[in-house]
Amino acid sequence: MKYAILPVTAYEQNCSFIVCEDTNRLAIVDPGGNIDEILQAIKQLGATPEKILVTHAHIDHVGVVAELAERLSLPIEGPHREDQFWIDLLPQQAQMMGFPESKAFTPTRWLDDGDAVSVGNIHFDVLHCPGHTPGHIIFYQPDEKLAWVGDVIFSGSIGRTDFPRGDHEQLIHSIRNKLFLLGDEVSFIPGHGPMSTFGQEKQTNPFVSDHRG
Ligand SMILES: [Zn+2]
Ligand SMILES: [Zn+2]
Repeated sequence: MKYAILPVTAYEQNCSFIVCEDTNRLAIVDPGGNIDEILQAIKQLGATPEKILVTHAHIDHVGVVAELAERLSLPIEGPHREDQFWIDLLPQQAQMMGFPESKAFTPTRWLDDGDAVSVGNIHFDVLHCPGHTPGHIIFYQPDEKLAWVGDVIFSGSIGRTDFPRGDHEQLIHSIRNKLFLLGDEVSFIPGHGPMSTFGQEKQTNPFVSDHRG
């Protein structure tokens, strides 16, 4: 497996590409914007796009999902059904956040806790981690010990919960009782900013560390 990260939109959202080197197939995770750069990155990776994976339906993560799916004829997997309202609100999200026009979409497959998704021969576990949005999911690859966590947790911070149906206690629960249980050595790619490990965040993240308070 190899992966690449492309920060997109004014929010520097980490759109990523996951490539199965056995099959030369690729998934795009959270294509939030900059579709031309995304298409260019796919070309540079030289792999065949297989699907789009979505952690949650905020516009910086899904702004060009509909367009990309249409242009490359790709299925869309995720988020969890509870984010339907955010998908339906995409045209308004675009207007409010000053993004280019964005269309709602219907995921080919909604994902739920305990589901598995694949890219070529690589398998990922799906964990439902609500709090930032009610339908937020994360993708975990156990052999590589690598997780794509969207806006659940960042290096040194956690996701905002002041949006409609955000829930701070639920978010903390998702982090401490789901993500942290994956293991200290697990690395993660957050929706924004640099990578980290759950062990590092357990030690030092002021919102969720063992030493807080
Ligand atoms: Zn978000
Ligand atoms: Zn975000």
